[in-house]
Amino acid sequence: MAKKALITGITGQDGAYLAQHLLNLGYDVYGLLARRSTPTTWRLEYLGILDNVRLIDGDLTDMASIVRALLECTPDEIYNLGAQSFVATSWAQPILTANATGMGALNILEAVRQVCPDAKFYQASTSELFGKAQETIQSETTPFYPRSPYGVAKLFAHWSTINYRESFGIFGCCGILFNHESPLRGIEFVTRKVTDAVARIKLGKQNELRLGNIDAMRDWGFSGDYVKAMHLMLQQEKPDDYVIATGRTASVRDMCKLAFEYVGLDYQDYVVIDPKFYRQAEVDRLLGNPAKAERVLNWKAQTTLEELVKMMVDADLERVSRQ
Ligand code: NDP
Ligand code: GDP
Repeated sequence: MAKKALITGITGQDGAYLAQHLLNLGYDVYGLLARRSTPTTWRLEYLGILDNVRLIDGDLTDMASIVRALLECTPDEIYNLGAQSFVATSWAQPILTANATGMGALNILEAVRQVCPDAKFYQASTSELFGKAQETIQSETTPFYPRSPYGVAKLFAHWSTINYRESFGIFGCCGILFNHESPLRGIEFVTRKVTDAVARIKLGKQNELRLGNIDAMRDWGFSGDYVKAMHLMLQQEKPDDYVIATGRTASVRDMCKLAFEYVGLDYQDYVVIDPKFYRQAEVDRLLGNPAKAERVLNWKAQTTLEELVKMMVDADLERVSRQ
């Protein structure tokens, strides 16, 4: 019998790539679909898998709907990717972020405990937990110091998962994933904002790109690589937590330079610094050490930043020229 997986956040970047990966592995894939006034399934359509997944109505802030979803699909594996995931928005909507990103995880953990305690559970933790980083290179043992309501909500979700593992024996794993991007990344995140602008500028549809702190540094990987690590974590004998990263950091400025150079332009001619995009509290520099994931999961990031930027610019050139 095929294994069954339930993905929350299936309409998001990682949800779509994970669904595709699990379908390729022969899983029956279910997804929790939050009701919105306009369709949110464009990423599943983009990957050509919308008809291959089963969507169940539900919301992470509504535990009753999660219980119903678990009863309906009786999953072997649950991937909790649903969240208000944009750091900047978390200052404007801290309570919503706490409810969806923090309490949402506890709602699903508690539902799992009551409905299907033997199911394996993956929690989408984040390098934002390290925030004001206490070590130059962050690993599973680096102390946390979140810097945004998003980071604080994720910290609650992270420790709730560990607590349910230690208190109730739930097979819960946290993947502490560093930033990962793709052509399916939300347009508000800096990499996609840059590649979309590069495409528009190249095609004569935009004149400038307004950005905030371009000296911030991130360890950027490709979402398609990272979802494979999520699955691998749930295939281990024991549940554990893992840092997933490339082990290389670059600034937003470096990333801009790469994207503009790829289409033969100089970023300095187009990028305008706009304080509107500064953060209330910045995470200056993130750099992950993926040694444990490499050793235990036999996982390694496959896509370089240069390859990722090219992939994203190409996809945006295609999209913008079709519009
Ligand atoms: P996205 O923002 O692309 O996707 C978030 C998903 O969560 C969407 O499907 C969204 O649905 C859903 N969602 C939001 N609120 C609710 C709710 N109340 N109930 C049910 N579903 C909800 O994020 P990513 O795919 O990039 O990231 C996946 C997860 O990994 C997130 O938890 C994120 O915080 C975390 N993460 C991401 C990193 C990254 O670099 N991408 C790094 C580390 C962690 P809808 O489409 O309807 O809005
Ligand atoms: P995050 O790491 O989850 O916050 O991912 P983002 O892609 O949103 O931001 C990465 C870094 O880029 C942060 O340090 C931001 O301050 C910085 N940045 C600079 N300009 C911008 C901008 O215009 N938009 C966004 N989203 N981030 C920006």
